[in-house]
Amino acid sequence: MSLALSGIHHVTAVGGDPQKNVDFYTQVLGQRLVKKTVNFDDNSVYHMYYGDEVGHPGTIMTFFPFPDIRRGRIGNGQVAVTSYAVPLGSLDFWRERLSSYHCTVFEPSTRFGEEALVFTDHDGTMLELVATEEAGKVAGWAGGPVPAEHTVRSFYGVTLWVADAPRTGRHLTEVLGWEQVGSEGARTRYRIADGNFATVVDVIDRPEQPRGMGGAGTIHHVAFRTPSEDDQEEWQVKLAEAGMNVTPVRDRQYFKSIYYREPGGVLFEIATDPPGFTLDEEVATLGTDLKLPPWLEDQREAIAQSLLPVEVREVDSV
Ligand code: ZN
Repeated sequence: MSLALSGIHHVTAVGGDPQKNVDFYTQVLGQRLVKKTVNFDDNSVYHMYYGDEVGHPGTIMTFFPFPDIRRGRIGNGQVAVTSYAVPLGSLDFWRERLSSYHCTVFEPSTRFGEEALVFTDHDGTMLELVATEEAGKVAGWAGGPVPAEHTVRSFYGVTLWVADAPRTGRHLTEVLGWEQVGSEGARTRYRIADGNFATVVDVIDRPEQPRGMGGAGTIHHVAFRTPSEDDQEEWQVKLAEAGMNVTPVRDRQYFKSIYYREPGGVLFEIATDPPGFTLDEEVATLGTDLKLPPWLEDQREAIAQSLLPVEVREVDSV
């Protein structure tokens, strides 16, 4: 079988206050907190993972929530917008729900024949809901505060902002093997793989526009799925041959990862599907305890003390 990525694995963002982060993604957006751990590269900061019931690849939004960080600026060289798929007919429900929590919600727009609702979280992170027929064919997670028929089912895709879209586009098609499927104005659409979920990458051409700056409300990177460590190793070789500065394999406990910047500056990760979030917790209790990888267990007390306590709780506002 030829080497191919099978969709988005997760999206990782920088957030502000950790409790507000939990409030927004579990109570407003209705995802499940499936893992509460720390940033393995800076264990004074949480790493929160939100997803469906088990945190399937393609549903996982993750955050490094720094309590006192300043806001960043969304710009070129970043994932600017993260999109979730919801069933057809759900956008009215969402518009009302998001407005009731005082989120900034933009007028719905239509792209490539599909309706999209753009909004921001409490930190200014740009999010989007896209209504699709396919989303209505799978069940949502019924354990959260959002009625099951309207829940976000998975990611729909991501939107990259770059200064030279054709250059990024060549990388996506020639190196990663994705298909260019259409364009509307400055937006060119690529599809990572066959299948309906978390397979869309839009690239917006923004020549002469400012680069993004990291901080709260900005996306740190997007990860794409590979089925095995063997395939990941092949990607490492292939990307290096294409001139990319790709990292060694990093053990992220719930998956293995390699990272590089695509030619437009957006940080890409290639992450393995296995082993997943049930590695160290049962499905029923995912996200309950602070989980640490074996190499940080001997520092548990100090790490736990340095983190602000957070809980999954009902909220009226965010
Ligand atoms: Zn990642």
